[in-house]
Amino acid sequence: MELYELKPYIIESCDYLGIDIKEISSDILLIQIPDNLKDELNGINNTKVSFVKTSDPNITYLTFESFFTQKIAQLVADRNTGIGTGTKLLKLDAPTNYIKAQLPSCNIQLLDISQENTDYLFIWFKTTVRGNLVEEYLKGFKYNLKEDKVETYNEDINFLLEDIKDELLLDVNEAHLDTVLREMLSLAKEDAEIFIEKKKIENKEILDKEIKRINDYYDMLYYENQLAESSKGVTPKEELELLQREREGLISQQIHKYEYKSHDTTIEPIAILMLRQTVETATVHAVNNYGQISLHINAENTISLECALTNDTNGPFTITSDDMIVQVDNAFNCSECNRLLDKSKESSCKVCDQKICNDCEEISSLSRASLCHDHTQRCQSCIEVVASDEFHLCVNCNQFYCLKCNESSLCSLCKSLQPIQGVTPQVNQIINLLPNDFSAKKYESSEKGNRVNLLGKGTLFKSFLIVFDKNTNTIIEKQKYGLFNKKK
Ligand SMILES: [Zn+2]
Ligand SMILES: [Zn+2]
Ligand SMILES: [Zn+2]
Ligand SMILES: [Zn+2]
Repeated sequence: MELYELKPYIIESCDYLGIDIKEISSDILLIQIPDNLKDELNGINNTKVSFVKTSDPNITYLTFESFFTQKIAQLVADRNTGIGTGTKLLKLDAPTNYIKAQLPSCNIQLLDISQENTDYLFIWFKTTVRGNLVEEYLKGFKYNLKEDKVETYNEDINFLLEDIKDELLLDVNEAHLDTVLREMLSLAKEDAEIFIEKKKIENKEILDKEIKRINDYYDMLYYENQLAESSKGVTPKEELELLQREREGLISQQIHKYEYKSHDTTIEPIAILMLRQTVETATVHAVNNYGQISLHINAENTISLECALTNDTNGPFTITSDDMIVQVDNAFNCSECNRLLDKSKESSCKVCDQKICNDCEEISSLSRASLCHDHTQRCQSCIEVVASDEFHLCVNCNQFYCLKCNESSLCSLCKSLQPIQGVTPQVNQIINLLPNDFSAKKYESSEKGNRVNLLGKGTLFKSFLIVFDKNTNTIIEKQKYGLFNKKK
């Protein structure tokens, strides 16, 4: 029997048949037989096989004569029904279901569904190369007849053969097919050359070791013979020549053993599939209460959504008000404008901690903190935006001003009262608004932002203090003084 390398043969054949293999160790494989092949293999589902003898009763020792090997070979042969032609429709169900699952809060619609046909030629070659061992492998090649180019064959055979409808394709150009087949064969030849080159490198190491072993052995004999008396009736010189010839003979045997003879390589097509593949394409329109997106999908390509913020592909996702796909966990609702936005646009109010977007937030001129609408106030003295908790009461005029305008308990208006030189129209307006019992001999005033403070004085003591608001044109604070400036 020829010495085949059994392990690669089993691995490639199982791959061709769609049988899953897990390598447990370099000699032991776990073979997982799909249900459709179970009956063919005596009802086995999972089985461990080994290429060396083991004492484990659960592991089948595999040789070329084993039932399993023979059956696999037969199944491969059965699959090779020669030339097959058929059509296959790749539908949009998988990508559509994926999008629906990944965008659970969205309404998904498929628009502009269309179909595109491409003819492919698949061909599987069995390549046999002969060196010290005879090695076989199966390899598939794929040709796109529409674009006239070789494509990488990386199909899952079960998936490829699934749902093919046998159909004769009569409109195929035979001469063209012939050229393509020849091109594929030359590709398979190139591939075999690469395989042989790889094997040669592997073998070179083994061969070098063998030669070294032979040389070491004969070097030792040579040395011993130089010392010893001849005992076989040949002269020492003749004996050394004999050893040298033996050595050369053994080395050339080894070289011959590890040699690959390219003319011994055979490449046979074992299966050809001419496939007209129809691929559905469409535009997916996904919409929720906030935004919408459109995506082009193609039944042949797997689609994967990705978070616009993190590029993470783990869903679920949602669509933001600015029409971006983000992970649900990376989206927030602005409590002001109610838009759904990604977290890079999120702030929270310093006072109430509500989530607000960058467009809605106000920034305190004092602390630079983010503020929601409810907790934003304008200081009527400096007219700046500050947080509602950044105000301080002036004990004199009883008004709240920001911490900049009222650092201590006396506001900057109260601190800067100055005697008035003449009665301006504004002072006149304020005086006209005074109640009848508010009178004074002289006045002091200060003005900042929207506020005017007016202090009325008698001969000796203060008479009254009022705060006038320019926005509303009203007096918002009235205080009367008694003797010795005592507030009434
Ligand atoms: Zn907002
Ligand atoms: Zn707030
Ligand atoms: Zn202020
Ligand atoms: Zn004040």
